[in-house]
Amino acid sequence: MNESCGRIVFIQGNIISVEFPGSIIQNELGYVIHGTERLKAEVIRIRGNVANMQVFEETKGLKIGDEVEFSKKLLSIQLGPGLLGQIYDGLQNPLPELAREYGFFLPRGLSLAALDDSKKWHFIPKPLPNKQLVNGGFPLGYVQEGIFKHYIMVPFGLNEGYAVDWVISEGDYTIKDIVAKIKDGKGKTIELDMAFDWPIKIPIKAYVEKYTPKEPLITKTRIIDTFFPVSRGGTYCVPGPFGSGKTVLAQLISRYAEIDIVIIAACGERAGEVVETLREFPKLIDPKTQKPLMERTIIICNTSSMPVAARDASVYTAATLGEYYRQMGLDVLLLADSTSRWAQAMREVSGRLEEIPGEEAYPAYLESRIAEFYERSGVVKLTGDRKGSLTIGGTVSPAGGNFEEPVTQATLKVVGAFHGLSRDRANARRFPSIDPLESWSKYESFIPADLITQAKDVLVSGNEVYQMMKVVGEEGISLEDFMIYLKAEFLDSVYLQQNAFDEVDAATSPQRQEYIFSKVSEVLKKELSFNQKDEARKFFYELRQLFIDWNYKEKISLEFKHQEEKIDDFLKK
Ligand code: ADP
Ligand code: MG
Repeated sequence: MNESCGRIVFIQGNIISVEFPGSIIQNELGYVIHGTERLKAEVIRIRGNVANMQVFEETKGLKIGDEVEFSKKLLSIQLGPGLLGQIYDGLQNPLPELAREYGFFLPRGLSLAALDDSKKWHFIPKPLPNKQLVNGGFPLGYVQEGIFKHYIMVPFGLNEGYAVDWVISEGDYTIKDIVAKIKDGKGKTIELDMAFDWPIKIPIKAYVEKYTPKEPLITKTRIIDTFFPVSRGGTYCVPGPFGSGKTVLAQLISRYAEIDIVIIAACGERAGEVVETLREFPKLIDPKTQKPLMERTIIICNTSSMPVAARDASVYTAATLGEYYRQMGLDVLLLADSTSRWAQAMREVSGRLEEIPGEEAYPAYLESRIAEFYERSGVVKLTGDRKGSLTIGGTVSPAGGNFEEPVTQATLKVVGAFHGLSRDRANARRFPSIDPLESWSKYESFIPADLITQAKDVLVSGNEVYQMMKVVGEEGISLEDFMIYLKAEFLDSVYLQQNAFDEVDAATSPQRQEYIFSKVSEVLKKELSFNQKDEARKFFYELRQLFIDWNYKEKISLEFKHQEEKIDDFLKK
């Protein structure tokens, strides 16, 4: 038997044990040779001369003795121009092409090219000094991809210092054409085309420095930006039960957040959820360009009908794509929906390997895998004084909406912000259903901290009164307490709630948030005196209507001014 080949000695579901003669590497990619088929598999554990591998496809019909060919490479994806707008599965097979050719079910053992290698790109070289010394990530030129400059970089991982020998002149080339030659210290020439592979489980580190995220990532959703902000290059987690608004929120943020590129890793439980993403996303219009949002989006898509291993791969594929565009100096947002499905894939594989189970049968390394995933976020300094960022948001779908479960808990330990969606709020149609009493953020808001604290206090006291009222009724509480309740309700309805389907209200700029919030704070602070509850209720009802009209009319500047005067007049009464 060939040194780089092994043989199957054990099969259990998607996990096979392979005896091999030579040496192999952890996470090495191999191919099971079964008749004319070649099935992709990844080494996940090595013991002596037996490797456990997860097969990315159906293992039906495989048998003991089938040959496995090792590739000496780790599981990788292809990076280069043409990624934007694509919809891939976890192994970077383009899904629309797959559907066109095979009706969504890729015949076993087949894979499709991730990038079109016949398309021509207009390459513009970067002027370089003679024999410029470069390393992985150094931009040699660019092609225009949609509205972005897609830098053609020295492949990541080449870190020993190379002299640029030759770069092709401006012109139209495919990703297969050689566009540059670099020489290593021993004088060996490396030819570069416009695409290269990168192993998905290894973070890309072709940067000068990684910073702590500080700058706010403006999402234009008021409750997030004002109360529970996310920083550019930071991380956040959105747990929420089915129907609580996770998908609508993800779409809102994808459209309106101040971000260049959006990467969606959709790991659905039901095939329907993923189909929904596939159907809805391509219809979304980018408010900035009025063109399809897909032109700056990549979707990685898995359903639970795909083998677990492919689901596991999809989050790493998404992170790698995010890091790749970050290396171009762009701001990237990765939304993983839902990470619970990924965790379940881990649990399944771990169970088959008969590893010692941790809490709720998840593997003991669940926490470290989750932490490693979120650690791929960050703001980085690149050569030539450029900066790029990758922000990672993950949804979690805890069974029964119970946040005390391992995946939510492990995620909460590592993320910088928590947007807990509430079933009660969704049922009451208070959207976005982010729970203001449970959510938190470690990042700084652009609204002064004392105003935030004041507003949060009102929400907490308002909720206490509300809980009391549920027991003793409205008659049972004092007028003062009732006022606190009305203030909390006011804040909720005019500021925390935001209508995703109203063109103006859907997105509130930070300037506008500051402005409205200062007015709302004035109301919260105001000493008001009424003789009876009905009078107070009427006051807040009218004021609320004025504010809601105001929220909906930002773009009509005259009316906006007018509305503000109306509110001021009202408050003077
Ligand atoms: P999930 O993905 O958590 O299952 P969805 O995002 O599909 O839930 O939301 C369910 C429904 O709730 C939507 O179809 C919509 O009617 C409503 N909804 C959710 N978020 C909002 C929002 N921000 N504004 C208005 N309606 C919303
Ligand atoms: Mg959904």
